[in-house]
Amino acid sequence: MSHDMDRDTTKEPSLAEMTQKAIDILSQDPDGFFLMVEGSQVDWAAHNNEPIGLITDFLAFDKAVDVGLKFAQTNGSTMVVVCPDHGNGGISIGNEFSNTKSTNIIPNFQYDSINVSRDIINPLTGAKYTGRRTAESLIGENSDSYARVVQENYGLTLTKMDIRRIHYLMHSKLKDTIGMIEHFLGSKLSEENFIGWTTTGHTGEDVFLGIYHPDITRRMTGVVDNTDIAKYICDQLKLGDLSADSLYFNKVGLQGYEDYEGIEDPINKTLVFRLKKGKERTTNTITLVPNVNYYLLNGEKIDTRKR
Ligand SMILES: [Zn+2]
Repeated sequence: MSHDMDRDTTKEPSLAEMTQKAIDILSQDPDGFFLMVEGSQVDWAAHNNEPIGLITDFLAFDKAVDVGLKFAQTNGSTMVVVCPDHGNGGISIGNEFSNTKSTNIIPNFQYDSINVSRDIINPLTGAKYTGRRTAESLIGENSDSYARVVQENYGLTLTKMDIRRIHYLMHSKLKDTIGMIEHFLGSKLSEENFIGWTTTGHTGEDVFLGIYHPDITRRMTGVVDNTDIAKYICDQLKLGDLSADSLYFNKVGLQGYEDYEGIEDPINKTLVFRLKKGKERTTNTITLVPNVNYYLLNGEKIDTRKR
């Protein structure tokens, strides 16, 4: 999937369009449906501290949420859960230059005098494409053209030093040179527009949780553990306890597992566990296979739908 901003709209549907199509098809099932939609491009951009891809794909995700919400509101028996799996990048409005940078417009820049639209958002609107696409468009270009291409695609003015740096990255034998150029462009654009980052990795802060439920009294609210979201969804869908113990182990009179024997089949990614009974170790093994309605107990197929 491309970043929403870089996508060829004649060839690739938006996340919102794909969400609508999935709902159109799945909602015909009389048993109801479960749909998971991921706005995954936000994470990729955040890993490379690239604000354009992050912001525009957040907006594309927001439109997909709107599609889900509109369906739920008219349908009357659908709930929508919106949550990230984690934070990323530690993005902030304001960076280490917020108090020191002088500009032509504001000679003695102070954090308090930052105007979000004028100083942060407006300068970003010069980008026609994401940092990723801009980095890709430099492949095969002569370094004399870097400044022009970056200006046109990303709205960023490069110095001679920047051009040398990009040239070095482009011709290095490093892994993921495009990702590193994307990171370089994103960091420079951020630095100049008072956007701060703390890491290129995932972050551990509390994250957003949005729940729409047609019955307002049954909306999950407050600060919750992420693992409770799955339990809440199972509860609302009346699926009962979907823990591994309930699905697999208890049914065969066993409690949990002692040894995790790892991946047996690297193509189908099956997992094999040696089971125990109470504290006792047994020779029974359970094999979990993804995307099927059965598991294997000592090699024999057992249907998970039978309770
Ligand atoms: Zn990630």
